[in-house]
Amino acid sequence: MKNTDFYKITELLSQPRKILLTSHMNPDGDAIGASLALFGYLRKKGHQVNVMIPDPDPGFLQWMPLHENLMVYSLQKEACENVISGAELIFSVDYNSLTRLSKAEESIRKSKATKILFDHHTNPASDFDLMVSITKTSSTSELVYEFIESQDDTSLIDKDIADCIYTGIITDTGSFSYSCNYVKTYMIIADLYRKGIDGEHIHRLVYDTYSENRLRLLGYSISEKLVVMQDFHAAYISLSKEDLERFNHQIGDTEDIVNYALSVADINLAALFVERDGVVKVSLRSKGKFSVNDIARKYFNGGGHRNAAGANCNTNLAETIAIFRGFLPDYEAQLNDVY
Ligand code: 5GP
Ligand code: MN
Repeated sequence: MKNTDFYKITELLSQPRKILLTSHMNPDGDAIGASLALFGYLRKKGHQVNVMIPDPDPGFLQWMPLHENLMVYSLQKEACENVISGAELIFSVDYNSLTRLSKAEESIRKSKATKILFDHHTNPASDFDLMVSITKTSSTSELVYEFIESQDDTSLIDKDIADCIYTGIITDTGSFSYSCNYVKTYMIIADLYRKGIDGEHIHRLVYDTYSENRLRLLGYSISEKLVVMQDFHAAYISLSKEDLERFNHQIGDTEDIVNYALSVADINLAALFVERDGVVKVSLRSKGKFSVNDIARKYFNGGGHRNAAGANCNTNLAETIAIFRGFLPDYEAQLNDVY
């Protein structure tokens, strides 16, 4: 792993530290996988480690090993405030701006702890004292493996840590369908199998746990709400609060819906707009070289990766869709030729 600040982190970790690992709101498999894997490793190294997310994670991640250690700021504010104030080092795992900490942002920002970015997104904010920011990697979970490897500590990776790393890699690559053209990823996967993971079982735990309502919401989204704009090679789905209520929406139920819009032949840009709690959550996906990270940043004040990005917008559902439809003509040529 090549990164100047990486050596400083190794030095900081050369004595037992009080460490707080944090990840982002609406946490995904990589956020949880990377955080728990790093938790397991740093604890084995003799550090006092806590791990915290701003809001609860979806049910399909809660089977993960070490999950019982995860603190949730919105549910355990006082306990979380205590660990924030006691921390010497605070890691930002799988996100690159403190604005993604939701209600935990203010306390983390105020903390005097050394703030360490540990992430794979482009364009990190200037919120950090040290940075491990490596974008050419499938996931932050892969980065955790590389970090452990760089410490000559792969022997400390047990099955629990391996399960967490594997889950982060499969969820951030759409089960090896994007951000997965790196040889190193597969060498790591091979080692995780040597550590005893059961990839088939993990796949079932993550992907085959839909509730009936979740599956019906997916069906409804595709049959009733999908708008395909063939001329622009774009498609989108929007879901109102009423739509979600009709299907008794649970956290995580809308995840993956956007990928079905992208799976249409010749559709190179897909969007999902979900109305929730006064904001509209935007999910963007693309094929090939078309960058939804640029789109998310430019039009929605969000961010992400080239082929998967998102934002949380203060505009209402109709306004957000109008912004999306409005910029499509400007990208007609690019969307016609994505490689
Ligand atoms: P999803 O559409 O699955 O929620 O998010 C896809 C990717 O977009 C995430 O992995 C994350 O990198 C990025 N992302 C999602 N929401 C936001 C947001 O509100 N702000 C920023 N900067 N990035 C986001
Ligand atoms: Mn990630």
